[in-house]
Parts: sequence; structure tokens; C-alpha cells
Amino acid sequence: MRAAILTIGDELTCGYRLDTNSQALSRRLALLPADMILHLSVGDDLEAIHRGLDVALEAADVVVITGGLGPTEDDLTRQAVAAHFGLGLVEDAEALARIRERFARFRRTMPESNRIQAQVPAGSTVIYNDRGTAAGFYLPTDGKHIFVTPGIPYEMMGMLETFILPRVRELVGTNHHVRRAALKVYGLPESGINERIQPLMARDRNPLLGLLPHRGTITIEITASGTTAQEADELLAADLETLRAELGRY
Ligand code: ATP
Ligand code: MG
Repeated sequence: MRAAILTIGDELTCGYRLDTNSQALSRRLALLPADMILHLSVGDDLEAIHRGLDVALEAADVVVITGGLGPTEDDLTRQAVAAHFGLGLVEDAEALARIRERFARFRRTMPESNRIQAQVPAGSTVIYNDRGTAAGFYLPTDGKHIFVTPGIPYEMMGMLETFILPRVRELVGTNHHVRRAALKVYGLPESGINERIQPLMARDRNPLLGLLPHRGTITIEITASGTTAQEADELLAADLETLRAELGRY
């Protein structure tokens, strides 16, 4: 299952905020496993969002979009996604009730502008937000699966855990399992490591190994895939044993 992420917000493209949503989403989705093949960020601009959607949908079966679900003029994501598929926006009564209730809890009345946060493209499933006001949504269309969440990392994570991960897990099926481990190596350069474990470094191999150098320490990341969890565990254990035998001293 190929996955892509489209993050939306001027704060990302102008460099004011780092896109940590893509990092958090990728880490969790990788374990399902989904093959993350694209991260893309665009500003709060209809044309840019349309282009971003084209690229993401061309590349992947699952597209997770975050950001731009706020109540203000510059938040365009729900309108852009609906327009992209020729859909209208519909208000979800339950989402609206939840937003009103959220304001009431803080002894405030809901400003009329927040009403739009209860709107989703026709035909999508609402992803209710227990951590904020904006409703997210899930839109399956043309064999693709689109998930849209607010940009606020805490709200995005809530929807990821409760809604997105279980859905994508179903899409991936139960005969695909991934196990990961990391070993830290100190005192050998990348080339030295590569020399000692060259057969394990092949790109078409399972487990797949990656070297990540950081300030004198090199982390070897090992990703094993299997049709059962046990198969993935065993492949991982075998590589760990070989790596410790070759590099244990370091
Ligand atoms: P709302 O306007 O209801 O708060 P929203 O969906 O419009 O939600 P944004 O306005 O896009 O969300 O972002 C809200 C906050 O979340 C901002 O502080 C922004 O910097 C942060 N944020 C947005 N996208 C990301 C991202 N990809 N990674 C990290 N932080 C993000
Ligand atoms: Mg915004």
C-alpha cells in the first residue's frame, strides 16, 4: 500500500514552522506497514493545493492531508478537496453539536465562523475531533483513500490513532508485517561498516538496512518484512546476530 502526505500551511512553506506532522505520520504508518513514498508541503493557496493533490494521488493509494481546516479565510483545505472531486460541502450535525459544546465548556458561544469546521465534502466520513474544533474527514474515491486532519499536531495525532491507523491497517491486510530495530556503531566510518556487511546492504534485500550517520555515531536501521509477525521477527533476529558478529566490537 503506497502512501503519501500532503501538509498544507503558509507557515510551513515560508519556513516559520517545521513540518513535524509528516515525520510523526510516517513513523506510525511505516509500522503497519505502508510504503511512504512522498512528502509534499504547499501553502494556503487553492491552486497549490490542487496541484499537490494531483501529485499525491498520482503517486499513492493512501493520501494523508493535514492543515488548513481552521475557521478563517486562509484555511482552504476542505473547500479545495471538495472542489477537486467536484463535490459540495455538507454540514455534519454531530460535528456542529460537538463544536458548540466545546465552546460551551469554556463558557463561550461559538462564533458563526467556526460553523464551517463542521463541514465535510459530500460522501465522506467525518473524523470527529476530541482534541479541538475542526472535524476531519475520510474520503474514499476512485480506489484512493484520502484522510484529512487539522494541522495542529496534537489533534492530528488523535485522529491518526483512533481513525487513520485502524483504517489503513485494514487496507494493508493481515498478511504483511514489519519489524524494525536500530544498532548504534561507534569508531568505524560508513565505508568501513559497508565493507564488513556488504552482502546485507543490497537494496532489494529483506531485511532492508540503512545507515544514518550523526555526529560520530552511525545508526544501522534494519527493517524486516514477513507474511507473519513471526517471520518478520526471525528475519530481524538473524540480521541482528550477523551484525553483532561483524561489528560487535564497535
Ligand atoms: P485550526 O486553524 O483549527 O487551528 P488548522 O487545520 O487550520 O487548524 P493550521 O492552521 O494549518 O491548522 O495549523 C495550526 C497549528 O498547527 C499552527 O501552529 C501550525 O504551525 C501547526 N501545524 C500545522 N501544520 C503542521 C505540520 N505539518 N507540522 C507541524 N505543525 C503544524
Ligand atoms: Mg490554518
